[in-house]
Amino acid sequence: MHTLWGGDIVPALKKLKDRGRPVAGCFPLYPPQELLHSMGISPVVLWGLGGGSNKLVLADERVQNFVCAVGRRLSQLVLWDAGKSLDALFAYNACDTLRNLPEVLEAGVAEQGGSISRFFLHVPAISMQRPETKSYFTRNIKQCISELEALVTIPYSTESFLQSASIYNEWRAIGRELDIASGKGNLPFEQLVRFALEAAFLPVEESLAAGKALLGDADGNLAPKNAVPVILSGIMPPPPAFLKVMEEAGLFVCGNDLAPLWRTWARSPKLADAAEFYADFYSNHFPCSTLLPTADRRPAALLELARQRGAKAIVFIGEKFCEYEYFEFPYLEKFFKNQGIAALLLEFGLDDLSNVAQHATRIEAFAETLAQ
Ligand code: SF4
Repeated sequence: MHTLWGGDIVPALKKLKDRGRPVAGCFPLYPPQELLHSMGISPVVLWGLGGGSNKLVLADERVQNFVCAVGRRLSQLVLWDAGKSLDALFAYNACDTLRNLPEVLEAGVAEQGGSISRFFLHVPAISMQRPETKSYFTRNIKQCISELEALVTIPYSTESFLQSASIYNEWRAIGRELDIASGKGNLPFEQLVRFALEAAFLPVEESLAAGKALLGDADGNLAPKNAVPVILSGIMPPPPAFLKVMEEAGLFVCGNDLAPLWRTWARSPKLADAAEFYADFYSNHFPCSTLLPTADRRPAALLELARQRGAKAIVFIGEKFCEYEYFEFPYLEKFFKNQGIAALLLEFGLDDLSNVAQHATRIEAFAETLAQ
């Protein structure tokens, strides 16, 4: 079974496929969804999988077992039905794990008698403030659009793109409001995570409506008295059972720097044609370890978030084998401790049950220290 935080996602994929639009499985986290949407493609961000079966037989035949769970699980999802759930793969450059994954998966699907189209966008790893870098990126976007036009019948138009970009920007704005509501204790954090992860497998219009409904219901007063407010940071949220352990230990999630949550919806880029929009999107994104040009801004942005939300501590949810996150952890841990904010690093891998059992004692000890 392919799961998303415990829920089966195959029916959601099938529902998307039944809409009659080509479905593109995208990775890593921040693909140009507006562009795909405007050209009649349903983008599915292949992130947040797991919590179910750990049998990754097809993925393990092609991807080494020292690769992160994110890469291994998305590989299994693409390969399990010889690519029948997906019409295309869309990737942009990030870490070494993902570097050749599109080609590996395309070949894996073909070996099983299926076929899948493959698209790639190269995002410069240096600042787009340099004119030559920006014009290189503009050429890449144009090239990408002309390749996509071979897959679909709807050609690119700036008008359609602006409509799609407005919907996604509205979705991001709702995400921000929900996030702030959750940080104030008006919405359970678990519900916020579920909303963010499920959005990847829903048409954006449905996810937007779901977000508005959730916001309408967000009026609880759930922050427990005397709980210690903490920020959660990481590529992936921890499993639901771990959130329970945190709550029982007396910690309250007042904010997050999780890639599919706050990092995704913290900023809505200015509306413009695709090339301008994505130059702004990738350059001025909320800092993420997978977007190299944003790295220098990361400590200050995280500190500001922690201060705005009144956090007393930060818990880093490390993704096992994620080189990007691990390069930054030692520096960030020291940085926060120097600012008087306690920091704890935990590592999560493929096996959710073991992860929770392994970290329960550490989180309880951390909570006791903070309470003192
Ligand atoms: S978790 Fe880290 S190593 Fe894995 S795909 Fe994401 S950025 Fe790459």
